[in-house]
Amino acid sequence: MINLVIFGAPGSGKGTQSEKLISRFGLHHISTGQVLRNHIQRGTDLGKTADAIISKGNLIPDDLMVKVLAQELDNAVAAGSKGVIFDGFPRTVAQAEALEKLLNERKTSLSGVIGLEVPENLLMDRMLERGKREGRADDNPETISKRLDVYHNSTAPLRKYYNDKNIYLPIKGDGSVDDIAGDIAQVVNKIQSS
Ligand code: AMP
Repeated sequence: MINLVIFGAPGSGKGTQSEKLISRFGLHHISTGQVLRNHIQRGTDLGKTADAIISKGNLIPDDLMVKVLAQELDNAVAAGSKGVIFDGFPRTVAQAEALEKLLNERKTSLSGVIGLEVPENLLMDRMLERGKREGRADDNPETISKRLDVYHNSTAPLRKYYNDKNIYLPIKGDGSVDDIAGDIAQVVNKIQSS
């Protein structure tokens, strides 16, 4: 299996680039944000818990999130996927450790972490635009500021975590969607042929 994490700040284009990767490489997409939004829509218990947390811009507790991820991963394995793109997970070092363990238990591992590096000043504008386009409730100025703080405090340390493991692959994320997708495809082709 080729297992990739697509990593970056909120608004860095993880969802958009994941879509490109799915169609190009036939990978299974796991977006934890999307999974949670589906639960909110369906009004499940998890959805109710998640809604209160997401609307404040905070993170869902690690133990709960890891359970959700394990279930999604089992679905991907059961579907016979050639690999998985993890989008929005891990967001903490504890989640990264849990992911490694979950993959090892399934006799596979992470092939690479694609880091979308986007200048800070572009992130807020991109998310405000998305809020208008897609109506995402957490894409409002107050929640976006909080999400960026949470990213810097809890998630950004993963860049060093994966860099130290020699699997962090930085991609300049402020060009056109297609140029960025092309740069990512080159990196993934290299991983595939190695
Ligand atoms: P996203 O669509 O990835 O931007 O996620 C939207 C929101 O869902 C985040 O701001 C968090 O509140 C929550 N969320 C998504 N993934 C995770 C995760 N791995 N850990 C904790 N919270 C998450």
